[in-house]
Amino acid sequence: MTIDLGRLLEEVAGRIIAHAEELTELDSAIGDADHGLNMKRGFEAVLADKANILAKPLPEALKAVGMTLVMKVGGASGPLYGTLFMALGKELPAEPTLADAARALGAAVEAVKARGKADFDNKTMLDVLGPIARHLNNGSVSFDSVRKLARERAEATIPMKAIRGRASFLGERSVGHMDPGARSSALMIEAVCDGVEGKG
Ligand code: ADP
Ligand code: MG
Repeated sequence: MTIDLGRLLEEVAGRIIAHAEELTELDSAIGDADHGLNMKRGFEAVLADKANILAKPLPEALKAVGMTLVMKVGGASGPLYGTLFMALGKELPAEPTLADAARALGAAVEAVKARGKADFDNKTMLDVLGPIARHLNNGSVSFDSVRKLARERAEATIPMKAIRGRASFLGERSVGHMDPGARSSALMIEAVCDGVEGKG
């Protein structure tokens, strides 16, 4: 599998930036209305550093993306998305197969769980990232099934009660709203699918 990291970064960053207002609106319902702003700032910094990132081999490039996200996104999501990308960089070989990518995402999800001391069904980004990692590790899957699962899993956070993160301060009042981090994860996964498949 040849990975055009430049294309993927453009696709993911562009998608997050285009949906920043929506993410902030979701965070205004059960958080502090900064998720879109945080993510936009982070991915604008990634784009600004793109030439430097792309000069590195894939594992180092992904670690650099993760470090930029940690430094620029802030909030709870910055260290967590930073951990996700840094773990992907640590796990992936320079020229990964699809099986390598699936295994690396599984390990990266475990790293995010450990970093945030969270589990699945806590109403977080993990409720999208975990199911996608499991789906990919089932073997050959279609891009459409990945996109569909990402959307469905983000929507499935609506009836959940938040157990981790700022939304958990609301207790029962967190029920009935989509988790902003689950939505940003779904957007990133859809963007990666579009980028790899050559759409977008
Ligand atoms: P903050 O909550 O500090 O304002 P953001 O608004 O940028 O940070 O990000 C909020 C998102 O981060 C949540 O919607 C949730 O998906 C995710 N999140 C928060 N805490 C955790 C955690 N412990 N584990 C996994 N994800 C988390
Ligand atoms: Mg917030």
